[in-house]
Amino acid sequence: MRHKGWVFDALGWTLTRADLEEGAAKAEAGYPEEVCGLALGPAQGPGIDHWVWIANVHPDPGRAFTLHEQEHLRALMRADALNLAVKVLCHSHIDGPPTLSWRDRAGAVRHGIEVMPAVLHLIVSVHEGRRGSWAVHRYDPRRAEFVTRDGDGLW
Ligand SMILES: [Zn+2]
Repeated sequence: MRHKGWVFDALGWTLTRADLEEGAAKAEAGYPEEVCGLALGPAQGPGIDHWVWIANVHPDPGRAFTLHEQEHLRALMRADALNLAVKVLCHSHIDGPPTLSWRDRAGAVRHGIEVMPAVLHLIVSVHEGRRGSWAVHRYDPRRAEFVTRDGDGLW
C-alpha cells in the first residue's frame, strides 16, 4: 500500500522514502558496525519528526547492537518533552539479511510484552559498505508474533 510517498500507510506502517534514506545513509556510514537509533513522531497519526541515533555499545558491534543507556534515556526524555512517541527502532545488519535475529526478538519482547510498545523495527542490511535490502517488522501482541514487510530492495 503506497501513496503520497508513504512506503506503508496502513496500520501505522508509516515510513516514507525519506525515513528509509535516513536509515540507509546512517547504516552505510556506520559499516562495518551496526548502527541503531530511534525515530520520534506524534503518537496519534502518521509521520516522523526526529531521528535520534544512539551509540551501539554492544561488545561485538558488527553482529549485534545495544543502545547506549544514557543516550537512550536522553532520547526518551526529548520525546517526552516534545510530546512525541518512539515510532521506529532502526538498526543495521552487517553482511546479512534484514531478518530479526534471536537477539533482536529477545530485546524487543520480554515475557510477551513489547519493550517499546507498537514500535516498528526497521532493519537495513549493509553489504560491503553499501545498502542492501531492508525490512520492517512489527510485533502483533494478539498473535504473539512478528509481522514483516520486506522492502524488495526498493529505495
Ligand atoms: Zn538485528
